[in-house]
Amino acid sequence: MRRYTVKDWLQVHALERDTVLSVLDAIRLGEPSREGEYSKALEIDADLAWQLCAKAVLSAMPVLEADIVRIRDHASRRFGDASAPITSSFTLDNGAERLPHLECPYSGTAGGLLILAHEFAHAVQIVASDGKFIPPMTREVCAFLGELMLIEHVRTGLPSYAEALLAAWRADTATYLGEDADALLSDLIRPNAAYTYRWNYPVARWIAGCIWGADDKELVLRVFTGRVDAPELIGTFCKKLSVDPINPLPPFPLSASGQMDAAQIYRQIGAVALLDLEDWQNKAQTSIQEYYAFLLDAMREGHMFIKLDDAQRPAGYVTWDYGVHEGVALTHECAPFGDEGVLHDALVDHFSKATRADSFRSAQAAGQPA
Ligand SMILES: [Zn+2]
Repeated sequence: MRRYTVKDWLQVHALERDTVLSVLDAIRLGEPSREGEYSKALEIDADLAWQLCAKAVLSAMPVLEADIVRIRDHASRRFGDASAPITSSFTLDNGAERLPHLECPYSGTAGGLLILAHEFAHAVQIVASDGKFIPPMTREVCAFLGELMLIEHVRTGLPSYAEALLAAWRADTATYLGEDADALLSDLIRPNAAYTYRWNYPVARWIAGCIWGADDKELVLRVFTGRVDAPELIGTFCKKLSVDPINPLPPFPLSASGQMDAAQIYRQIGAVALLDLEDWQNKAQTSIQEYYAFLLDAMREGHMFIKLDDAQRPAGYVTWDYGVHEGVALTHECAPFGDEGVLHDALVDHFSKATRADSFRSAQAAGQPA
């Protein structure tokens, strides 16, 4: 069987890699907090939980009543028990003629109830989209919306449930926007990285939260019935993201050998030129002759440092010279995407590794640019 890669995943969602990288930059949790009680026990058995999930989806999308009631009353499902435990949750699309089949290890906890709502929403999406192909990220948006519908539904009648479900939602979000987002980020810069289903979660989680926050019932219906695609969803909510100027540069390919060969040197020159063009000040305005002389000099002396961001894209660079008192004086710095502080920290780190730390610190102490 053919192995699917980043390229296939982007293609099936009609997304550009840079769009996803920019969204991840903005939504990723740096240090995910694990607060939230995922396993709080709720006094509700699997059948009642099933009914509750149906009610929640029905009150959010009454126009889909016929589909929801059919699933509630006739879809086959398995929750497992001690003699036949279930370890994973899924909803099987049985094609246009038959209802989907659901499996999940319902355990009576807040987290378990959310999973049930998630799978129920998958089933509703499968039936409501009527055989249309829906890419996985959009399917996950529907499932996450189903979880939010449940939380909303119990808010008035069962506020203690709502509190427990919200805590479980937050714990899950920490995973989706924490380790899942980090993994997707590092896989996106490796074109041959093998597809994993968890790639679909981070952006879908963010979109579901945005749709819910926008309280746009028509958009919810369009997602469930497969009448909206991923680029439109991302485009709709991108303006909500407060991001520094987006870094459009491609990731810097690392050489297989780790050696500084000719290709790596050319790549460095290219990265630096692109950074200066993004900055569009100073160096981008100089003549090619002057610019070439500047680059050649800095590279020959080894007085250049390029900072890559978490996605391996060039984020900024500096050049320097040694002053008369052996201190370091920066001769040029360029951080067009607003990462000056990060660039300085990375440079200090670079110098300390290069055993030049003392002279660099003394340069700082002497008030020279650093
Ligand atoms: Zn799912």
